[in-house]
Amino acid sequence: LFTALADQAALAIERIQLVSDVEKAKLTAETDRLRTALLTSISHDLKTPLAAIMGSAGTLKDFADDIPVDARNDLLSTIIEESERLNRFISNLLDMTRIGSGAMEPNYGLHFVGDIVGTALARAAKITGGHRMDLAIPSDLPMLKVDPVLFEQVLFNLIDNAAKYSPATTPIGIRVWLQSGSVFLSVSDEGPGIPPDDLERIFDSFYRVRKTDHVHAGTGLGLSICRGFVEAMGGSIRAGNRTDHQGAVFTIRMPVPPVPPVLGDQE
Ligand code: ADP
Repeated sequence: LFTALADQAALAIERIQLVSDVEKAKLTAETDRLRTALLTSISHDLKTPLAAIMGSAGTLKDFADDIPVDARNDLLSTIIEESERLNRFISNLLDMTRIGSGAMEPNYGLHFVGDIVGTALARAAKITGGHRMDLAIPSDLPMLKVDPVLFEQVLFNLIDNAAKYSPATTPIGIRVWLQSGSVFLSVSDEGPGIPPDDLERIFDSFYRVRKTDHVHAGTGLGLSICRGFVEAMGGSIRAGNRTDHQGAVFTIRMPVPPVPPVLGDQE
């Protein structure tokens, strides 16, 4: 009996091994496919701005004496803007690597959301230019346990998207409210909104709804960074469409930290 059981066990182990080998091969193929897609996408995102920079710099060098001042300024502006785009892309990639490697340890502190919104808005001022910012942030909200740098980056990405994907003079709304032990923050706009099938996928790295959208410079990384950072700080983020108006709305939910006991209370 013992030998029969041992044989059976050996057979079962062999079968499990076989299944896991097949699974492993499948996983490897999937990882390889993703890696290739990732590299293709990154190469494209690096090459496009580089080509513009090289073209403009080349023209400036070759025709230095014959270019009118206006045209020269245009070429210089292209070089600066495309370098900024490259810089943003590389920063995004570094943020992604930090999330992916699990090397990201948030630097927590207690902060008022309103203060962080203020910092993010100041940083985004150049981008939000023609948009009116509609803020509804109560002053009596509890403090949140967040990493202010990460939280500001999340807000900046959402405000950047709202400004980028909605017509230049339309308002952008930022609302904060307290509900069922959590602080909610929403960023809404009057742009085209997001197709229902894409509401989850837009948080994937490199996913863009309008893939051929070359008007709005983008990497498809902003929202996956938002989700990575928010979840690393114990919160959640989702995308939706407004019900009162055409446009997108992104909502962050952060737990309110428990109130620490006041020292000396026991006496
Ligand atoms: P990027 O903006 O660089 O493409 P994101 O990860 O920030 O990358 O966003 C992914 C995609 O989600 C965008 O390409 C766009 O299609 C869509 N999206 C994001 N924010 C909005 C918004 N406010 N309105 C409409 N579409 C949006």
